[in-house]
Amino acid sequence: MDEMTASLQADPELRRLSLWWDDLVSSSSDGPIARRAALDADLDVDVAIVGGGYTGLWTAYYLIRHDPTLRIAILDANVCGFGASGRNGGWCSALFPASLAKIARTANRDAAIALQRAMHDTVDEVGRAIAAEGIDARWSKGGTISLARSALQWSRAQGEIDEWRQWGFGADDYALLGADETRRRFGATDVVGGTYTPHCAAIHPARLARGLADVVESAGVRIYEDTRVAEIAPQRVTANDVTVRADIVVRATEGYTAALPGYERHLVPVYSLMIATEPLSDSTWASIGLRRRETFNDKRHLIIYGQRTADDRLAFGGRGAPYHFGSQVRPEFDRDARVFDALYDVLCDLLPAVRGSRVTHTWGGPLGVPRDWYASCGLDRSTGLAWSGGYVGDGVGTSNLGGRTLADLILDRDTERRRLPWVDHRSPRWEPEPLRWLGTNIGLLTMASADVGEARTGRPSRRAALFGRFTGH
Ligand SMILES: Cc1cc2nc3c(=O)[nH]c(=O)nc-3n(C[C@H](O)[C@H](O)[C@H](O)COP(=O)(O)OP(=O)(O)OC[C@H]3O[C@@H](n4cnc5c(N)ncnc54)[C@H](O)[C@@H]3O)c2cc1C
Repeated sequence: MDEMTASLQADPELRRLSLWWDDLVSSSSDGPIARRAALDADLDVDVAIVGGGYTGLWTAYYLIRHDPTLRIAILDANVCGFGASGRNGGWCSALFPASLAKIARTANRDAAIALQRAMHDTVDEVGRAIAAEGIDARWSKGGTISLARSALQWSRAQGEIDEWRQWGFGADDYALLGADETRRRFGATDVVGGTYTPHCAAIHPARLARGLADVVESAGVRIYEDTRVAEIAPQRVTANDVTVRADIVVRATEGYTAALPGYERHLVPVYSLMIATEPLSDSTWASIGLRRRETFNDKRHLIIYGQRTADDRLAFGGRGAPYHFGSQVRPEFDRDARVFDALYDVLCDLLPAVRGSRVTHTWGGPLGVPRDWYASCGLDRSTGLAWSGGYVGDGVGTSNLGGRTLADLILDRDTERRRLPWVDHRSPRWEPEPLRWLGTNIGLLTMASADVGEARTGRPSRRAALFGRFTGH
């Protein structure tokens, strides 16, 4: 083990980032994973990418594959995969944060459908790319089961499927499952029925991020870690008292964007938190199912999500942690004992067989939420500034589409992707504080209390519907 490898493997902060990082750093059979050197001198490149998560890495990947002569630099304040890309729930899904109805309102029906179809293809493209590059991201395309666990959730499931049909998507894409069929696949409690889509794969997030970083680096992309960008400007990025000059500057900072001067109100960092159990026994898995490692959730308002990991744990997460005044992001916000306890209770309520199993990991991280919950990517040719983000909790797949689209835009390749309606979409800015703090936290509380109220009354929450209309979600 060389000195650099030792420094990363011994770094307790990285191991604490997530189950995925702990696994990556502690497994000895993966070869060296070293912290890359920081940028310490001025640099001239064609494309400078700020942020080494999936967005930055996929953008670099498609750029260098299309044009191996390009001079590309990725700058990350910490290490590649430090952000949400190394900590997420590992749903590589076809979910896009804005609804089809909303996309159709800003563009048209055909454009909305084209974007959804592009998202379906994106899941397969991620699978194709990691297979082609030999990235061991523990990929399993088992789809997603979404449970209905009350009469109200069941009517919501039926409504969703009706809506998919109205947009022209059939049962091969989105299916309604009866109670028996749902339980056969996923042995949760109180199952009234569910929905199923094949368009999702369970992955190991940090292996994808670190694997991609290695691939692009060996293709010639220069990666600088421990390099915090202080400012992004046309054709120029400043970091660590040095300057990077570039024709194109890509902003790929998602939940961390608000710390960049001039971008304070672009994306709000909302925290999602996760827990993971120890590996569960074969007999427990025989009762739970998820044989194809289907990802799962249910139809409550305050989002929950889970996956059966490749090593037979349950990794389970949800929202509920507060938004912090001034869009602050700090390591201590990744942990909230109240939320971890609540997640464990929800998991045991879904799957009583889990009670008594040890929770071995707890973690969290910020995701990026635009004011209209509408992700976007684009390139302003006049300034050379490009971006992709605002994925809310759906960035694993969407960042790949973003990376491919940015490569098309930067290289001026004429593709259908460039005409998708999220390209060049401009979200409005968030309100200044304290309105931003009030609005975001009221929204989170509304969703949590709506679930409690609905469980008690069996009737849909009017406040949740109102909030949904307010955000257009
Ligand atoms: C707990 C959790 C669970 C989630 N689950 C899912 C899921 O199951 N499925 C899904 O689709 N999405 C999920 N998401 C969202 C998804 O992970 C993100 O949308 C996606 O990873 C965003 O990738 P990114 O590259 O844009 O941002 P990030 O991965 O956050 O990367 C941003 C990078 O920028 C760097 N950076 C920040 N500021 C600077 C600066 N000034 N200078 C240089 N570098 C900087 C950071 O160090 C970081 O590495 C989840 C998110 C979280 C937090």
